[in-house]
Amino acid sequence: MGKLQQRLSQVQAQIRSFALSCDRDPTGIRLIAVSKTRPASDIRQAFEAGQSAFAENYLQDALQKIPALQDCNIEWHFIGRIQSNKTRAIAEHFSWVHTLASFKHARRLDEQRPAALPPLNICIQLNLTGEQSKGGIAAAALPSLLEKLAGLPHLHLRGLMTMPPATASAAQQRQVFAQLRRLRDDMNRQGHALDTLSMGMSGDMQAAICEGATMVRIGTAIFGPRT
Ligand SMILES: *Cc1c(COP(=O)(O)O)cnc(C)c1O
Repeated sequence: MGKLQQRLSQVQAQIRSFALSCDRDPTGIRLIAVSKTRPASDIRQAFEAGQSAFAENYLQDALQKIPALQDCNIEWHFIGRIQSNKTRAIAEHFSWVHTLASFKHARRLDEQRPAALPPLNICIQLNLTGEQSKGGIAAAALPSLLEKLAGLPHLHLRGLMTMPPATASAAQQRQVFAQLRRLRDDMNRQGHALDTLSMGMSGDMQAAICEGATMVRIGTAIFGPRT
């Protein structure tokens, strides 16, 4: 087995054991491989080892890799910061967006989603700790954004996404993830149908899984350190 394959199956085993350790069904957690900065050849290797969902942050890079991997049946997730002049390409080339944080961007993605494609799956990014360096909306802004998104037929609202501060302790990570889960539960009690919690990276996967993650976004643990 190659190194990449080995790391991929290690991560799969970790997801399973973290899930079981907190009484969750491991099949309720999807692994999204974060392939930012990696060459298409790495993505192809991971795909051939069975990984089918990949996430990219940098649109220009992604637009090089996506056509090069057209023969692979990859589900592409966009997890970078959204800019207005990039929404068309995002709407055309991705199945999921995890980082929606404004109605303006939502409206553009909705208008620009090609009619031949299914609705674009959307997670709203929450910034629960007020870090300036991170995108996302405050929890207080979520209800009104959700109301407005309901009127956009080419978007399929799936759930919420967040990232704890890089320096957070395991206990702090869990607090942030638990807060996202409670927000999702509150919104569902108000009539929404959010089925996705996109939370957990290489350094905080265990905390995220134990607080209810349904998608983990893992880069380093699969592909090795980024240079
Ligand atoms: C880079 C990145 C990840 C993956 O981080 P790793 O620590 O490499 O697993 C996940 N989510 C987002 C939004 C990222 O930018």
